[in-house]
Amino acid sequence: MRKKIIAGNWKMFKTVQETEQLITGLKRELSDYTKVEVVVCPPFVNLPVAADCLVDNTIKLGAQNIFWEQEGAFTGEISGPMLKAVGVDYVIVGHSERRQYFHETNETVNKRVKAALKNGLLPIVCVGENLAEREGGKTFDVVNDHVTGSLAGLTTEEMQKIVVAYEPVWAIGTGKTATSAQAQEVHKFIRETLAKMFGQPVADATRIQYGGSVKPENAAELTAQPDIDGALVGGASLKVESFVGIVKNTKV
Ligand code: PEP
Repeated sequence: MRKKIIAGNWKMFKTVQETEQLITGLKRELSDYTKVEVVVCPPFVNLPVAADCLVDNTIKLGAQNIFWEQEGAFTGEISGPMLKAVGVDYVIVGHSERRQYFHETNETVNKRVKAALKNGLLPIVCVGENLAEREGGKTFDVVNDHVTGSLAGLTTEEMQKIVVAYEPVWAIGTGKTATSAQAQEVHKFIRETLAKMFGQPVADATRIQYGGSVKPENAAELTAQPDIDGALVGGASLKVESFVGIVKNTKV
């Protein structure tokens, strides 16, 4: 039985003070709500204060990226040991904004996934096609490349620590959600791809989140699909009411 997982990707929003306020609100509403796993992913500088706010709470903490080396002369980067020491549980890897603006490739995503695992962090690995790729009938090819490339070389044991997030780029921050049928079709394809790579039992156990303009109003229908195991939420994770609405509307 896959426990649904809702993760909030705060992107480059919220100061330290705003982080405390938002997490205080989430704790008030969600501390006793354990039917769904909840993760918040603030910007790096807010991770320590977020970790302090979340001590002994069921809400988990995630980072938005990780560098693949353990330490060294890599100005501006953050390593796995640093994230682990702060108390981070999850790390988003390969988000489309990283692929688009920071030239992430499947190879660099794969290195980051391995660095996360090496440091005891749980990767949320993002995959998904852009609008031109969807309109050009390339969705399944692109998603296949993202999944096989990003997860290449993992053992079946390592794969059990991975969450996959299917995020059609054309639905991110645009207000355009994939229909539940469109999302389910790709989620099913991802699970089939995982079965070819890691075997059916691992594929059946892997949680695959949907991401792209998820809101309280569409969370129930999306998460009712057989292969949709939760959501990666951007804009709607920045307010207590909308994020809690998504968590509570998630079909369990
Ligand atoms: C995201 O950033 O991962 C995302 C899905 O954003 P939004 O919910 O705003 O579309």
